Order: sequence, then structure tokens, then C-alpha cells
Amino acid sequence: MNYKDLADLIFPDAKDIKYYEEKYPERNLKEGAVVTRIAPSPTGVMHMGGIYQALIAKTVARQTEGVFFLRIEDTDQKREVENGTYEIATACETFGVGPDEGRTANDEDRGSYGPYKQSLRKEIYQAYAKYLIEQGKAYPCFCTAEEIEEMRKKQEAAKVRPGYYGVWAKCRTIPIEESMKRIKAGEKFIVRFKSPGREDRKIKHHDIIKGNVTFPENDQDIVIIKADGLPTYHFAHIVDDHLMRTTHVIRADEWLSSVPLHLQLFYEMGFKAPKYAHIAPIMKNDNGNKRKLSKRKDPEAAASYYDKAGIPALAVREYLLNIANSNFENWRRANKDANIEDFDFKLNKMSVSGALFDMVKLLDVSKSVISKYTAEEVYESALNWAQKYDEDLAKTLENKEYALKVFGIERGNKKPRKDIAKWSDVKENIYYMYDEKFEPKYEYQVINEKQDVDTILKEYIENYYDGNDDKQTWFDKIKELSGKLGYAKEVKEFKANPDKYKAHVGDVSTVLRVALTGRTNTPDMYEIMQVLGKERIEARFKLAMK
Ligand code: GLU
Repeated sequence: MNYKDLADLIFPDAKDIKYYEEKYPERNLKEGAVVTRIAPSPTGVMHMGGIYQALIAKTVARQTEGVFFLRIEDTDQKREVENGTYEIATACETFGVGPDEGRTANDEDRGSYGPYKQSLRKEIYQAYAKYLIEQGKAYPCFCTAEEIEEMRKKQEAAKVRPGYYGVWAKCRTIPIEESMKRIKAGEKFIVRFKSPGREDRKIKHHDIIKGNVTFPENDQDIVIIKADGLPTYHFAHIVDDHLMRTTHVIRADEWLSSVPLHLQLFYEMGFKAPKYAHIAPIMKNDNGNKRKLSKRKDPEAAASYYDKAGIPALAVREYLLNIANSNFENWRRANKDANIEDFDFKLNKMSVSGALFDMVKLLDVSKSVISKYTAEEVYESALNWAQKYDEDLAKTLENKEYALKVFGIERGNKKPRKDIAKWSDVKENIYYMYDEKFEPKYEYQVINEKQDVDTILKEYIENYYDGNDDKQTWFDKIKELSGKLGYAKEVKEFKANPDKYKAHVGDVSTVLRVALTGRTNTPDMYEIMQVLGKERIEARFKLAMK
């Protein structure tokens, strides 16, 4: 009886690993191309951290003309939720971080390194587990949950490290014959890796983000195949990232301490280990305390939040790059109109301790992003959003020709309007341009006497407004009007001689603006008047004079 007999008994149908090695050959990519992936578990809604990882993995793959793929890690079937794969794959697409290959939203495979869902790879893991058993590097373990619990208690009482290692690894020394007899007798078992490590020796490792780290060697005989025949994360990671030819494993830093185990597994399997980059979690400032962005506490942690609020995916991507590499901000300042794809993102410049996520900044970035949209793009995006979340707005936008005029105000020029940060802001920023939505609010600030206001409005529409005027002429006329009615034509003049004037041209403009829009702050009033036209301007003035 030898290891081969034991392996055959445990996995009689498993193929020789040669079969898989040939089926999934080295990828034919150009020199230096990087293969990355995200490997989420379908256990709930997609989290911002997942989008962040996907963006980073996709970015480095794209920079090197490599491949970015999505693998669904569903070996913990107790934790799986319905539609989990759909949620993940759609969230990736929605945020523009969809993979080149992998599991798709309708639960199919795209690419030739699949299946990209671990529960469909059972026989592959078993083939590799068998391979380890054949070499005496893995063994069946018959310990029951009660025995493991008892062992844990003993370790605690003796104040020694917990786990299945050294003298505690009871089943490691069971003779092959006995193991085979027990298996044939139907005794339940799992498969453990036989670790060659020693805790008193150190390994050095270079992580792309965390830098040089030193750990004790792994000496734990971890479970590689569970009672249900599925692998643990550790074993699945080794097999999958080897066979899918991943070159860079970019994952959450909760896995950093598993690196000694993973490197050991790669080594014992005879595979080349990938490079690792461990990303610190996204942090949030909570009343002065820095803590992890939390699924439970922070609505903005859920990927779905952004769709509902109407924050464009491009803005989210730009913001995430912003917190991923601190030099992004300078780059953006120097390259105002460049595509974010042109930014030279560097994995090794990511924060070791966790980037701070700030909604206010994200919305600021979003304002800039939207300010660069054309009127048509704003229209399409706002309409799309409204059709999903705001019926009233969708209805208002039905007249596309008019909506394009409204969205076109102060857009496409050097300093475009920046009043929209999210599609849910659109309403309050355009409704005053619709007569049936316009809500007058007559607070004129400086010039408040009804008679003064009425005189300005009446004089202006009767003697000064002309729809054919260019902007300069239009403004000169407001100055003229101001002069005629005893207001300073220039703010400077007013400041020099405040007693000489009732107020100044800016205050006169405010009267016009408030009467027209109900607001003291709007985009360019000349363009607003152009869109409204004389009749509607007059109607609004009349309303204000009532
Ligand atoms: N399924 C693991 C997780 O969701 C994946 C870690 C990895 O990227 O390797 O944490």
C-alpha cells in the first residue's frame, strides 16, 4: 500500500493533472502583460470595495494589454445568496469595470479558462488534491468537530498556538493501511495539506503595495477539501490562479497573513506563485474617527447607492482613482480634459493604510465630470435615470428639443456650469425653466421696494430687452438701465461713492434674475433669456409685478 493507492481510493475518478495543465496553457500575451482578477463570493450586494478592486485590477491589466477576469467564489454554499452572481456581474458592468472574461450576469462563462465559478470546478480541485495525496503532501483527516473543539480547549489551557499542526495534527501520522481501512468502512473525512513548514523559521515576502513583509513559516495542516467535496478558499485560490494563469493577485489585505500558507502551497504543488498586491480597505471619517467603510452603517458603501442617487459611473471611477493614487489630483489639474485611462496608475503607489472616502469630494469630482458632458449626454443620462427613479422628471424631459436648450445653457464653453453633481440634482436645477414647474420666490436681496422692482422690470422689458442682442450689447443695456434709474453702472463706482447711488448694476441684475427664475443663483442669465424668449420673460415679469 502506498500513497497512490490511498489517492485512488479517495478520488477514484479524478483525472491526471496533466489533462488540466494542457487544457489551460500559459496565455499567449505580449511580454509584461498582466493577468488580474476579482474573485468575490456571491454573498450579498456588491460593495464599493469590490468596485474599487475591480477598477484597480482592470486598470493594471489594461495598461499592459493583459487580461482582467471575474471568478465567482461560491465554495461556501451556506453563505451564498440568490442572484449573487448577477449582482456582482451587473454591478461591474454598471460601473464600467466589466471584465474581459469570466462569469457573466446570466451565469454563463466567457473565455477559455473556465468554468469561472468554483462550484463547477469540483473535479479540478479533486484532481489536484489527489496529486498532493499521491506525493504524500496531503492526507485524510478523520477528526470530528467535537475532537477539534476538544483540541482547541486543550491548546487554550496549555496556552499554545491554536490549530492543526505538529503534535496536534493527529491524523497526519495515521498509517496508510489504517486510513484506507477507515475510509472503506465508511468513516467520514476531509483532506488536509501536510505542511512542511516550521513556525520558528521566517519567510520574507515582497508585496507590491505593502512592501517587504516577514512572517513565520506556515506549519498548519489546513483543510484543502471539505466534507462536501469542495475546496477551501486557500486551496481553490492556488489551483484557480494557477490554471487561469493569473500573474497578479490583487485582493483585500485581510488575506496578507495567509501569504506564507499560499506561497507554501504554490511551492509544494510545483507552481510558480503570482505576485501579490494587498489593498487596504476604503476608510471613512466618522466624526473624527477613521474607520472602514461599512456595509452595515454606510449607505454609500453599497454599489447600488450610486445608481439610485444618479452619480455617473465615470465620476465614481475618477474619484476612486483619486483616492487610489494620491498623485492623481495633480495629474488632473495638469490634464483637465484627459481621459482617466491616460493616467499612469501605479499599484505600488497605493496607500498602505487605507484611502479615505469622502462623499463631498466625490460629488465635487462628479460636478466636474458632468460639466464636460455635452447637452445631449446630460439629456440622455438624466432621462435614463428619471425613467428609473423619477416619473415626474421623465415626463418633463419628454420634449427633447426644449430640454436640450435648457441643458445647453452655459455648456460646451471654457468654464461650463457645474451645478449638477448627480442626476437627482437635475430637477431643482432646471425646473424653473419650465412654466408649469416654475415656483416664484421673490427675494431680491438689496433692491426690495416693490416700486423699485416694478420699475426695473417694466423699463427693462419695454425699452431695453431685445432678443437679437449679443451678450455684450445685452449687458450694456442693463448698465444703461441702471444708470437711468439711479443705480451705479459699475460695482467699482458704487464702492467708491456709495452715497451717490441707490445700489448698483449687480443688484439690478439680481432683480431681473429673481423675477425670471425665483433664484439668486443661476447659470448665465443671457442664455436663460435666450431660451425663455420675450413672451415668457414678459409673463414672468408680470407675475412678479402682481
Ligand atoms: N473570495 C475571496 C473574497 O471574497 C477572494 C479573495 C481573492 O481575491 O483571492 O475575499
